[in-house]
Amino acid sequence: MNIGQKVLETLKEEISELEYNRYIKHLSYDIKKSTSDLAIFYAPNALVVNWISKKYSQKIAHLFEVKTQNKVSIKIMLKNSVEKTSIKKVVEAKQGSSLLNKSHSFSNFMVGGSNQFAYAAVKSASENAGKTYNPIFIYGGVGLGKTHLMQAAGNVFQNEGKTVIYTTVEQFLNDFTRSIRNNTMERFREKYRKCDVLLIDDIQFLSNKEGIQEELFHTFESLKGDDKQIMFTADKHPKKIAGLEARLQSRFEWGLVADIQPPELETKIAIINKKCEINKVALSKEIVHYIATVIDSNVREIEGILSKLHAYSQLMHVDIDLAFTKNVLKDQINENKKNLTMESITQFVAKDLNIKPSEIRSKSRSKNIVYARRITIYICRELTQNTMPQLAQYFGMKDHTAISHTIKKINELIEKDEEFRLKIEELTNKITATP
Ligand code: ADP
Ligand code: MG
Repeated sequence: MNIGQKVLETLKEEISELEYNRYIKHLSYDIKKSTSDLAIFYAPNALVVNWISKKYSQKIAHLFEVKTQNKVSIKIMLKNSVEKTSIKKVVEAKQGSSLLNKSHSFSNFMVGGSNQFAYAAVKSASENAGKTYNPIFIYGGVGLGKTHLMQAAGNVFQNEGKTVIYTTVEQFLNDFTRSIRNNTMERFREKYRKCDVLLIDDIQFLSNKEGIQEELFHTFESLKGDDKQIMFTADKHPKKIAGLEARLQSRFEWGLVADIQPPELETKIAIINKKCEINKVALSKEIVHYIATVIDSNVREIEGILSKLHAYSQLMHVDIDLAFTKNVLKDQINENKKNLTMESITQFVAKDLNIKPSEIRSKSRSKNIVYARRITIYICRELTQNTMPQLAQYFGMKDHTAISHTIKKINELIEKDEEFRLKIEELTNKITATP
């Protein structure tokens, strides 16, 4: 047994079997490259590297010192990048082709306040093609479900035997230029003007592209004239897309324009649960809640997180628990505590609770402001290095006795009031998650 193995054997006796089997067992000692003051170990993947470096390297160094009477630095390195690629594959497999994605169905789409208007519009169009709202224009930020929703309608139409074209502006443009080059415009027009349903994604990319705008305009006129259903998505309202022909812009608004907003906490939880069900990943309530509070709004991140958790847990043969989740999400969360100031925290809380930052720092006794102030003070105390007198000064309190009294009060509330505690937890997660 070499010295590295001996050290790990000793460590085995000092930690729980679970921890040993999860992490330490996977380490191998590099006897060739290690020296009397540097010990090199390899771990099978980045997660184990991070985890062990953080949690065990001091202990391992200490054991080396005990055994060799030498101060030894510990280096944990990635064995090779095989694992990395397999994770990448899991993620890449999810990002599909331009065709309709079957899992983008209405039943897989979770509805909440943030998206119910868009949902209702698209759903009703799917039940009555071309007859209710035509066109439908859905707009909203990245990863909020625009493509999913539009494709859900597309899937319904396709199942009814209709000819559905789903395309992005980019593909439409490629198809168009290719047709010009190959002298096949006839066929291009036949295809786009004779379909039953036309779905075009990411309209903002039409900006300042005149030729394709003109082509789309005529395509639109032809389909609309035949009462064929048309849907568009974009990242902003048609009025806000610069470099669009006026006549096209006005056509976009002819039917119904609906926005999708970032999901509320409950909707995020519902989406995560749905994705778990689809991807057959089992997560506890606690973990689902944690993920929901940590990711800001982009729902696409959820899928990335789930694939990552799933892949890591498979690779390492471990169950997904909260500590494991936190560790896997570390890069995602980008814990940026160092840059947090009382000011930035106050602004964040104020925005979340829909009041003014100045109100938080005022002497107002109104209920919602006192609530916001308590949360802000607590988070500032937790996440910044400010002293009691500094906190007192910033929040307009007499002295540090006043602030320590307030903090005591907040701690009591956290014990008693579950909702209050959850709100603090949610905001803390969000604040540390925002880069
Ligand atoms: P967008 O087109 O707005 O950028 P997508 O439609 O591609 O966003 O959605 C990104 C991911 O999030 C997809 O996997 C989609 O299924 C999922 N998603 C977004 N909103 C919801 C929702 N309300 N319910 C279920 N999944 C959703
Ligand atoms: Mg999209």
